[in-house]
Order: sequence, then structure tokens, then C-alpha cells
Amino acid sequence: MRTFMPSMRIFIDGKFYSERDAKVSVFDHGLLYGDGVFEGIRAYNGRVFKLKEHIDRLFYSAHALLLDIPMTHAELCRATVETIRANKLKDSYIRLIVTRGVGTLGLNPRSCKKPSVIIIAGKIQVYPPELYARGMDIVTVPTVRNLHSAVNPAIKSLNYLNNILAKIEANNAGVEEAVMLNSEGYVSEGTADNLFIVKKGALFTPPLSAGALYGITRATVIELAELSGLKVSEPNLTRYDLFNADECFVTGTGAEIMPVVKIDGRTVGSGKPGPLTKKLVAEYHALTQVSGEPI
Ligand code: PMP
Repeated sequence: MRTFMPSMRIFIDGKFYSERDAKVSVFDHGLLYGDGVFEGIRAYNGRVFKLKEHIDRLFYSAHALLLDIPMTHAELCRATVETIRANKLKDSYIRLIVTRGVGTLGLNPRSCKKPSVIIIAGKIQVYPPELYARGMDIVTVPTVRNLHSAVNPAIKSLNYLNNILAKIEANNAGVEEAVMLNSEGYVSEGTADNLFIVKKGALFTPPLSAGALYGITRATVIELAELSGLKVSEPNLTRYDLFNADECFVTGTGAEIMPVVKIDGRTVGSGKPGPLTKKLVAEYHALTQVSGEPI
């Protein structure tokens, strides 16, 4: 069992609580219905990486759900920095959550009078550390990525069952991560990361219209690749394209950049993390050390 960390300070609606006392109501619609939005943010070397971009996306997700965040963009940035500071962290993974708040047992969001803002600054290890050097095996899974016309995958909501089902299928197949396809069979993304392939020296990633989250790491990798003169495009990709890629990797705030070396039993390229992937990993890590909002 996990032991409590009495020294941890968790932000809830403007106040700090210890891990033991940081609690939400069982009537919060975030719990009852997954009605809410969140961000996973990272701090490196005393700076919060891409803070503005994460808070922007939180507001976009909330806007799509008609969820009024009870703090301004600037207040949320400040509260995030303060929470990291209160926990005396220089390197951290920060979970920022806005729930619909306390309401009745019915699902009508109008019964919830005030959304709640929660900020947790801790640590994360999404994948086993040794996989970063070796590269990861992944599989495509039966669960199809949410349709835009149902729950739009661009909304980073508290309802992650689409991704969790895919994760369970990947785990059942004995691997750490899934590739999700959309209802047309095109590659969409991983369960918590975006996917890239390298072919003949160029970089490809599925378009956001294929059902991917507007990944902030994805955007950073595209920027880094373009800066070093790589051609980047966003066509629809099929499983065939993945199988015949020279290199493949997934990207996310938590995962960072993870090389992929096997997909559905097909070896990708040399079966080892490729040279362009390694270059991007090095450039990404270098950038995280020097840029961001000071804590
Ligand atoms: N796709 C999904 C479904 C995600 O949840 C995430 C974030 N964990 C990503 C992609 C990667 O996005 P980002 O690079 O902004 O963390």
C-alpha cells in the first residue's frame, strides 16, 4: 500500500492541503461522470515547460464543455508555479484538474454551482526507464479512437475510458502501449501520447483530424525537426506505413520521446532506436533544461 506523504502540498480551490486532507466530494461530477478537464505539465531544472500552452489547452477543453474555470489564465499559471514551489520541487510532473464541481446525482451540469480547481505536483514514470534505451514494442488494438462527432479527442477531459480500454488491450497483449486507430482504420495516436514515423529522412505524424490530441510535445518535436531542416508532414497513416517505417516514436509530456521498435510483431527499421529519433530526444531534453516559466 502507498504511504501518505505528509509533506506534500496539494492545491484545492485556492488553499493548500496535505495529501491526507486533500479530498473532493463524492457528489463532484468529476467523480460521478468524468465531467471535467485536466492537464499533465512538467517542470525541469526549476522551470515549468510550456506552461502557457498547457493552460491554453485547458481553457480550450473547458470551453468545449461549457465549463467555466473559476480562475483566470494568469491565476492558474501562478497557482501552478506556487504549488511546485510549495512542494520544493525543481523537477516535477504536475496534474492540473478542473472538475464540474458538486451537484446532484443526476448528470445535468447545471446542478453544479462551482467548478473545483486541483493542482498536484509530484513525479511520474510513464514507462520503465530501460525502455528508453532499448525502444518499446507496441500493438494496434480493437478499441477505436473516439469519434469527433461523439467525444472529441481534442478535449482533454476526465473521461479517459476510450484510452484506458486501449491500454488494457495493450497490457493483455503483453506490451506497454497501444496504437489506436480511428473508425476509418487510420492511425490516430497512443493512449497518452502522439505517434511519429521517419521514412527516407522525413518525419510523418497523423493529422489532428485523425483523432489525436493536440499534443504539446508533438508540436515541440515538429518545431525542433523543422529547425534542423527535416521535412515534416501530417498525412493519414495506415498500419502498413507504421510497419514499413525506418523509425517510430511516441511523444507526450509524461512519456517525453519514447522510441518504438516493434509494431504488431513487425520490426521497425533496424529494431533499435533510430538516429533521427535519438537526435530529437537529445534536442528535446536540451530544450527542457533551459526554457519555461521560472519557479
Ligand atoms: N494523446 C493523449 C490522449 C494524451 O492524453 C496526451 C497527454 N498525456 C498526449 C497525446 C500527448 O500530449 P502532450 O504532448 O501535450 O502531453
